[in-house]
Amino acid sequence: MAEVLVGIYGASGFGREVLPLVREQLKGTNAEFVFVDDGDVPEALNGYPTLRYDEFLERDAGEKKVVLAIANSGIREKLAGKCAKDGIRTLAVKADNTVILDEVEVGEGGILCHFTQLTSNIRIGKYFHANIYSYVAHDCVIGDYVTFAPAVRCNGNVVIEDHAYIGTGAVIKQGTPEKPLVIGKGAVVGMGAVVTKDVPPGVTVVGNPAKVFEPRRS
Ligand code: UDP
Repeated sequence: MAEVLVGIYGASGFGREVLPLVREQLKGTNAEFVFVDDGDVPEALNGYPTLRYDEFLERDAGEKKVVLAIANSGIREKLAGKCAKDGIRTLAVKADNTVILDEVEVGEGGILCHFTQLTSNIRIGKYFHANIYSYVAHDCVIGDYVTFAPAVRCNGNVVIEDHAYIGTGAVIKQGTPEKPLVIGKGAVVGMGAVVTKDVPPGVTVVGNPAKVFEPRRS
């Protein structure tokens, strides 16, 4: 029986990138690792067993924890609720070369991948994902379940509301203390976008300068 069984929830692309971070973070402990996935996945991946959530719950272990390694923020919220109900604690993950300066708060269950930089005076909510090479600069406020794809450049005095998704390589212009640049709840910023002004809740913006994306009707 494992003393500590850690389930990486999500055995797809992101989960397979996150498991090695968790293994490194818990090096020297008695933790054992499995993937947890409710989809149609092989019995083992990269040498680690895959279990469905109900199988994970049934496993004997001194203590069980999960890491929510699924990029879709709505699914993360749903799974966080399910784990809380079942008394399974979630684990926050921080790659060993993450840079964090002064007065930075990151909520429960966040994942900071390699080369993440969080500078000073930053507040981040729960279940944040910062994929590789992303940064958040001074005086930013980031809500819950926000997702950064790789290499997001979020400059100072920016507010990002809950469930926003920021695509690979997007650049967000610096706001000011009096008027932070605001990315609204559930907004999507397309890859490579250069965001120069506020983004309303729920919309998708793309391009340089970023504009609201209106899919063409055929
Ligand atoms: N998944 C799950 N339970 C859910 C929803 C999703 O186990 O309630 C799994 C799904 O089977 C898939 C993974 O989460 O294996 C999500 O993978 P995807 O490729 O969509 O995204 P990633 O987060 O890896 O970029």
